Amino acid sequence: MARYKDEQCRVCRREGQKLFLKGSRCYTDKCSISRRNYAPGQNGQKKKKLSEYGTQLREKQKTKAFYGVNEKQFRKYFDMASKTKGKTGEVLLQILESRLDNVVYRLGYGASRAQARMMVTHGAFAVNGQKVDIPSYLVKAGDVISVREIRKDNGAIKINVEDNAARPVPEWLEKDIEKLSGKVIRLAQREDVDLPVEEHSIVELYSK
Ligand code: SF4
Repeated sequence: MARYKDEQCRVCRREGQKLFLKGSRCYTDKCSISRRNYAPGQNGQKKKKLSEYGTQLREKQKTKAFYGVNEKQFRKYFDMASKTKGKTGEVLLQILESRLDNVVYRLGYGASRAQARMMVTHGAFAVNGQKVDIPSYLVKAGDVISVREIRKDNGAIKINVEDNAARPVPEWLEKDIEKLSGKVIRLAQREDVDLPVEEHSIVELYSK
């Protein structure tokens, strides 16, 4: 188990950035990036110059890890984005932000996207009053996401509400702690996304 936990931090260290994969620990000075900001492995402290392809690949891998999606899903989102009006890279990030598991995490009801995904799968949330247990469900402007009545006593959700009270909610969402819900005011724009990624590199990678 310890190895598995370290595995998540190794992903951050490989990308040289905090990807917030572990919940509350990511917001403390116990974060591995705060203590050892170099790639894992024997040669981790040696600076490697990446090729153009290597840089593009790293940007893609980092984004996949941040949102916790696999290659097939990520490619599907890229195809959706490329058929949508607007800059493909920015639309791609907007789609990823719109996933229900991400919204639950952003609202602070999940400690991490992975935990939020598990909670959604277990039927803890509703969208506009209807149970939705599909983490990849894409929310729309005006949608209201709420903890279902039968899950309001869920211990993990209570802890997260308390632990994440100070964590800022992005401007495109509005949180109602009393009702254990949140509303999508509008879809996320590029400036709302706190992932330092060169999304054009992902577009270039898939356009080869
Ligand atoms: Fe680990 Fe820090 Fe990454 Fe969180 S942000 S998974 S604590 S390295």
